[in-house]
Amino acid sequence: MRRYKDIPLWKDVSPKQWTDWHWQVRNRITDVETLAQVVNLSDAEQKEISNSMKYLRMAITPYYASLMDPNDPDCPIRKQAIPSSNELHVTKDEMTDTVYETVDSPHEGLTHRYPDRVLLLLTDQCSMYCRHCCRRRIVGQTDHARSWEEIKAGIDYVRDTPQVRDVLLSGGDPLLVSDQFLEKVIREIRKIKHVQIVRIGTRTPVVLPYRITPQLVKMLRKYHPIWLNTHFNHPNEITTESKRAVEMLVDGGIPVGNQQVLLKGVNDCPTITKKLCQDLTWIRCRPYYIYQCDIAKGLEHFRTSLGKGIEIIEALRGHTSGFAVPQFVIDAPTGGGKIPVGPNYLISMSDKRWILRNYEGGVFQFPEVAGDRESKCPPSCKMCKTYDNIESNEGVAAVLSGKKMCLLPEGTMREARRKEIKKERKHAPGCDPF
Ligand SMILES: *Cc1c(COP(=O)(O)O)cnc(C)c1O
Ligand code: SF4
Repeated sequence: MRRYKDIPLWKDVSPKQWTDWHWQVRNRITDVETLAQVVNLSDAEQKEISNSMKYLRMAITPYYASLMDPNDPDCPIRKQAIPSSNELHVTKDEMTDTVYETVDSPHEGLTHRYPDRVLLLLTDQCSMYCRHCCRRRIVGQTDHARSWEEIKAGIDYVRDTPQVRDVLLSGGDPLLVSDQFLEKVIREIRKIKHVQIVRIGTRTPVVLPYRITPQLVKMLRKYHPIWLNTHFNHPNEITTESKRAVEMLVDGGIPVGNQQVLLKGVNDCPTITKKLCQDLTWIRCRPYYIYQCDIAKGLEHFRTSLGKGIEIIEALRGHTSGFAVPQFVIDAPTGGGKIPVGPNYLISMSDKRWILRNYEGGVFQFPEVAGDRESKCPPSCKMCKTYDNIESNEGVAAVLSGKKMCLLPEGTMREARRKEIKKERKHAPGCDPF
């Protein structure tokens, strides 16, 4: 890593300017000529870069650019920040809104997919536009915050929807708005009794660590419980500055998690990811998810096989601290949501035993205990009567609990036939098995 002062472009920048997040945003690298002063680029490379901003603009914070290896085009920092002509290649499987955030959106900028939590977008601006961004359909479009009126409509929806207990502020990067604007949003959300936690999803600790200031933390602490997830992808991103940013947040009582994206040529390797996850625990950032790279347009060159993620988890679970092991998830196209996948540890079972294997490949048994093992409610517990848990009893959980016999897909020919049969038998009660 170079000292920024050693890069001629910034030799006259004072430490005060350099560590001022507004200065960093104002001085983002957005054109190839400036970039060529930070890393060595051939004429052909410069041309490729300027031709490759068709879907997503380029903006790189000076801080993040200073982490680049000037001589290595395969540097993991460069790959995440510098456009490549691969982005222009769109495959037939790729989509614009792959995970149907707009389909599950009762208000523009708000997605309500899961029972108890919503995603609220505050801005389409990011300090850096990651080349692998899956929200590239919206990020960087205006490079501005959304209007208070638009956000307010989303907050009104939360107020009118009592099952929402977790509001996730996202974007763009929600920490690109001013402290004042952010406080206005959080204060308004906090007035809603049924909202238990507020979450922030931000890459600033990684690409703009100076955004995490004592003032910001002081403001956020007033509205606890606040949770925050960030987005480290490579151990080289863990620096004195990003460490300080995460530690300030955690010292302010904000649990910090990490959402990594599996990227070919950046971190698609058990060794790199293990080092990253261990270093994250060192800075008190808990690895939360590893995402399979999305099928957004122009990301094919970053996508790994699904097996790679499973191989990585295999190399982590058991081999290192449990809290250094994230969950590998696939955010299923067309709105399936995050689906966890991983190695299988259950090998076989009989009515007497479970057969399990551990991370070393040792095979072990666990006996099924004879007798009545069905759990019963503690006699004095009244929670089911007082705690509204309706949506948690949907889906597979409802079949498990015996509330439903089965879940059948809609819109099949079989379903249509069944409807017909049911209609015809309307006058013959007794034929209906239900
Ligand atoms: C990821 C996501 C969430 C949060 O999911 P968690 O698994 O609770 O972290 C909420 N809403 C949407 C639309 C999401 O994509
Ligand atoms: S910070 Fe997040 S939203 Fe912004 S460009 Fe990067 S991945 Fe996309």
